[in-house]
Amino acid sequence: MSKITVAGTGYVGLVAGVCFAEFGHHVTCVDIDEDKVNLMKSGISPIYEEGLEELMKKNYSAGRIDYTTDYKTAYKDADAIFLGVGTPEQPDGSANLTYIATVARQIAETVENHCLVVVKSTVPVGTNDRVEQFIQDFLVNDVVVEVASNPEFLAQGSAVHDTLHAERIIIGTESKWSEEMLNSIYKPFNIPIVSVNRRSAEMIKYASNDFLALKISYMNDIANLCELVGADIQDVAEGMSYDERIGAKFLNAGIGFGGSCFPKDTQALDYLAQQNSYELQTVKAAISVNKKQKTILYKKASNRLITFSGLKVAILGLTFKPGTDDLREAPSLENVPLLLSQGADIYAYDPVGTNNFAKLYPGGPSGNGSITYVHSIEQALQDANVCFIFTEWGEIKAIDPLMYKRLMRTPLLFDGRNIYSINEMKEAGVEYHSIGRKSGS
Ligand code: NAD
Repeated sequence: MSKITVAGTGYVGLVAGVCFAEFGHHVTCVDIDEDKVNLMKSGISPIYEEGLEELMKKNYSAGRIDYTTDYKTAYKDADAIFLGVGTPEQPDGSANLTYIATVARQIAETVENHCLVVVKSTVPVGTNDRVEQFIQDFLVNDVVVEVASNPEFLAQGSAVHDTLHAERIIIGTESKWSEEMLNSIYKPFNIPIVSVNRRSAEMIKYASNDFLALKISYMNDIANLCELVGADIQDVAEGMSYDERIGAKFLNAGIGFGGSCFPKDTQALDYLAQQNSYELQTVKAAISVNKKQKTILYKKASNRLITFSGLKVAILGLTFKPGTDDLREAPSLENVPLLLSQGADIYAYDPVGTNNFAKLYPGGPSGNGSITYVHSIEQALQDANVCFIFTEWGEIKAIDPLMYKRLMRTPLLFDGRNIYSINEMKEAGVEYHSIGRKSGS
């Protein structure tokens, strides 16, 4: 079993570290955030992911995983160091590689063994070549450090399951030694390994994410047209889904993609294309459709109502998708400021996302309106004039349509996730607006 260090304990790094430990490797997770490290040492996960805390506790008490801010000790004699630090979007669309560079330099200054640096973070094509050279430039000891690409494909909300049961593992290497090292680390996972060169591995990650983003934007574009011509996007998607060339997944229309990956990875690939004097028209279109889609529900509601001023507005769901507490690029972040600027009194409910949201919008007066965080769906809906659904959490999907009628002052619902059938809403007496389908009461 290998001695593995993971740099960065976010969604990617922590989940990877815990899963390596679960398969018997000796893992040290490094983070610069001391509060996070203390939380993890006490068995608490700093992020919400189903099943993660249980595996953290199990492997910590078995002595297979530890957490530290002391990178020097953690890097110096590791067999492999996995990088799971962030690569956020910069204003020009390019990826910010500062965190990668910091860790690369720390590795160069401390490592004492022949070691493999494995970049799990999503980085532009060619970055791994630069990381290898950068480490070489700053290397203090007379050792060999090689760099491999191993992009991550987990989805937040099912990160542990996705890692333990991935459909494929991509490894991008430039030497037999690196390839064999990664093969042996991943052997216990028993998952197909696709072995390519580093640049292809880097491109596989962007090409995969951007293809999914494109699929979502395509369905949203078609949904908007469906509304104009009297077709129903859900029927259309079902009809399409039987074609194996299309596939049944990612055909749901809605208020656009969010999260820490699709928005920044579409921008980053577009930027890479521009840098190479190429116009990536398909990805550009996905970006522009998504931008408009995020506020489409707000525009529909604005057309239906004269004003939001003085109205109680219920919001169900704040996170960018169910199963995560992550708010990055969530549609709620586009819509809440618009509603507040128009004087709405918002009552927001989310099963796990309100604490993070309250860091951005503390409860109380805000803009021309106010925001209150509530602990139940009922509290949000009670006496509301209008309700928006931004995230399709299971408990929101399970709401009995009659509840909207019973609790709201006016049962007016704008559903950004097409959760309900139009007929059930009609029967319940709820005025229902969704995406790509007929509106009505
Ligand atoms: P994150 O922001 O959740 O976590 C990054 C962590 O790195 C933070 O805890 C931060 O404190 C830590 N960090 C920063 N500098 C450090 C340093 N010098 N040493 C040690 N730790 C340091 O990020 P994430 O969402 O896990 O994403 C990480 C990378 O993986 C990104 O490139 C992202 O694009 C990619 N990715 C993310 C997902 C996802 O669903 N979140 C999926 C696939 C790939």
